[in-house]
Amino acid sequence: MPELPEVETTRRGIEPHVVGRRISRLLVHERRLRWPVDPKLAAAVAGSAIRRAGRRAKYLLLETEAGTLILHLGMSGSLRVLPAMTPRVAHDHIDIELDSGQTLRFNDPRRFGSVLFTVDDPALHPLLKLLAPEPLEDAFDGEYLWKITRRRSVAIKQLLMNSRLVVGVGNIYASEALFRARVRPRRPARKLSRVECHKLARAIKATLAMAVKVGGTTLRDYVGADGNPGYFRQKLYVYERDGKPCRICGNPVRQFTQGQRSTYWCANCQK
Ligand SMILES: [Zn+2]
Repeated sequence: MPELPEVETTRRGIEPHVVGRRISRLLVHERRLRWPVDPKLAAAVAGSAIRRAGRRAKYLLLETEAGTLILHLGMSGSLRVLPAMTPRVAHDHIDIELDSGQTLRFNDPRRFGSVLFTVDDPALHPLLKLLAPEPLEDAFDGEYLWKITRRRSVAIKQLLMNSRLVVGVGNIYASEALFRARVRPRRPARKLSRVECHKLARAIKATLAMAVKVGGTTLRDYVGADGNPGYFRQKLYVYERDGKPCRICGNPVRQFTQGQRSTYWCANCQK
């Protein structure tokens, strides 16, 4: 599933190809995404120039003269920049054709992704307005984590995955950040010390920043007619490494199910 680093990598990959370009037409081949694509969308954006390719949490924001396209990659979505004439393949649902002769093509086998549109400030959109601070920005720090954990007895890993409190830390990066901070995933959030909150905030930033950096080397995968978008997999400490030796202490990495998701951790390194 694309997590925040993959979405940011996608944003950086498409940005030079779309910003400053005019949308010649938008074609909807499959309307039934997570939310049905608005039948009026094609007419709303046709002829508009794209001013900016932004991101908020896992939403890509294509700001046009007419309004903002809000794209979400869902469980399996990807965006690629291709020559507009490139034949479609299975699950190519939307084409945003540009005056450069290229198309921004949205593919999504499981159709949990979405393409929405607003003429208002996207920050006020119902899907975006309650989102927590961006983890890579300064507003997210140890003091913020300390404040939001004080009265919450939910397990810290589950708190990290609550997008009203922390955005963009999905299942992979929650396990990884907790390992880096040496905090056990099952600890009640309110039991973390202030020092641990600071360590964890730094670990979250470091984990995400590293993933974005690694993603930078795969940017070419987002542009071109062949191959898959190829979401990268950085060198992970614990995620999907159950039974394998911990990279720090050598004890086997453990796995358990938490909120219907797999959690990975080292019982020796994490307290
Ligand atoms: Zn260990």
